[in-house]
Amino acid sequence: MNTLAVMCMALTRHSPSRTPLARTSAATCSVTLTNARRVGTSNHSSLRWDFIPRTYPRGSAGKTGRSGVEARLPVSRALSAVKGMNDILPEEIGRWHAFEGRFRAAVELFGYSEIRVPIIEATPLYVRSVGEGTDIVDKEMYSFVFHDEPLTVRPEGTAGVVRAYVEHQLAAKEPTSRVYYLGPMFRGERPARGRYRQFYQAGCEVFGDAGPGVDAEMIDMLVRFFASLSIDGLEVLVNSLGGKGTKAAYRERLVAYLRPMQAELSEDSRRRLETNPLRILDSKHERDQAAIAGAPSVLDCIDDDDKRHFDRLLELMTKLGTPFRVEPRLVRGLDYYARTLFEIKGRGGDLGAQNTLCGGGRYDGLVEELGGTPGIPSIGFALGIERILLASTFGADQATASVFVAPLGERAGAEALVLGRELREAGIKTLVETRGGSLKAMLRRANAVGARLALVVGDGELDRGVVQLKDLAAHAQADVTRDSLVAAVREKLA
Ligand code: AMP
Repeated sequence: MNTLAVMCMALTRHSPSRTPLARTSAATCSVTLTNARRVGTSNHSSLRWDFIPRTYPRGSAGKTGRSGVEARLPVSRALSAVKGMNDILPEEIGRWHAFEGRFRAAVELFGYSEIRVPIIEATPLYVRSVGEGTDIVDKEMYSFVFHDEPLTVRPEGTAGVVRAYVEHQLAAKEPTSRVYYLGPMFRGERPARGRYRQFYQAGCEVFGDAGPGVDAEMIDMLVRFFASLSIDGLEVLVNSLGGKGTKAAYRERLVAYLRPMQAELSEDSRRRLETNPLRILDSKHERDQAAIAGAPSVLDCIDDDDKRHFDRLLELMTKLGTPFRVEPRLVRGLDYYARTLFEIKGRGGDLGAQNTLCGGGRYDGLVEELGGTPGIPSIGFALGIERILLASTFGADQATASVFVAPLGERAGAEALVLGRELREAGIKTLVETRGGSLKAMLRRANAVGARLALVVGDGELDRGVVQLKDLAAHAQADVTRDSLVAAVREKLA
């Protein structure tokens, strides 16, 4: 299938009033309009586009001889990344790798293993798990129909992981499973610093443990991990939504409280009063703030079992020395939560207003809801990697190479390749200047890539069986015999 055609595929958000397809296509990708057709309506989407992939005949793109899509792109306008979706450039990737390495190491210490699930899942998976009436499902999903199958580019990680857990019957293999994931998520939110349409999350899920011991352990693991990244002003908010009984009782109480002030609420909240009243507590709308501030607390109608669970969680967190604050109005934007809920906020760095680093909680009914064995409790969290990088100052090894090999002349050019191979086999990051050039230009490049050492080889050095080793920071140099070179480089870099 034509790759660009797929990239130009009619990805539509659920909001009928905003159709990026039409906007984008008009500017850059007229082919999708000819390939798209309207395919009906549903509760949460009145406009969908069906993409019919088309293979373009070779040569139809004129001189380039490539895809028809490319041929129709306006040549005068440079293409740029989709709004809210960012490139991570080579100069930035070091910090991402450092974060990912630290995250893996931190969670693997607690027995989590990585799981990789697809980025695209069936749309009903998210509608059933995240829930209708949530911002994600109502407004933010990148959904499309492909060969009559409604699909969505994942807006979050838990639903896909639970789907995989159920599909592969992982519950039958182990009584408890601990998994983690890392990867991009997609939500059509209004972009701002720390809020993107493609963003990266890392998360963990535990299946088969009803808590609250594992809840306390998970929150403490996160707090300690964030502290190890030197993130300032950590604040942990916890709440319990209770199980089914508590949730139902609270819902009733909340509706009874909100109903008389219905007229003052925002349009979204008025609608949610009927469909999903708990979501109103999540609203950022100015008109809703006074109502939210006076709303009853879920903790006022929590049942005995749920209360025991929550009290024990607080006791364990106190025992572990995890700082926390109970926030009775914390409900979080996804439907599947029950009992423990938490958020961790940070301060400082370039974080700004989007300061929630991480959110999580229990979703005890979700495995069953998605067709798995009833009664498997679960808890998980997801953290936003971009926000962690904004909030923290930890560095990364920025150097492309530790050693830069600078050959002078053709004979030396061949020897430089051999040298490079030997050093890399010894685990030393090495860049060989294969283009040649003057010594001055090559040393300038060695500095630019952040190398600590430069190895200069010319005909003279080859004849004498030596290599000139330059310490670029100390501005010192010495000839080193070819045989002892790897050891000498190791010693210098130690
Ligand atoms: P959620 O899946 O909504 O519970 O979000 C978990 C974490 O993911 C948040 O605390 C943020 O750190 C991060 N996150 C959520 N949405 C975005 C977004 N649009 N852009 C960047 N990070 C996000």
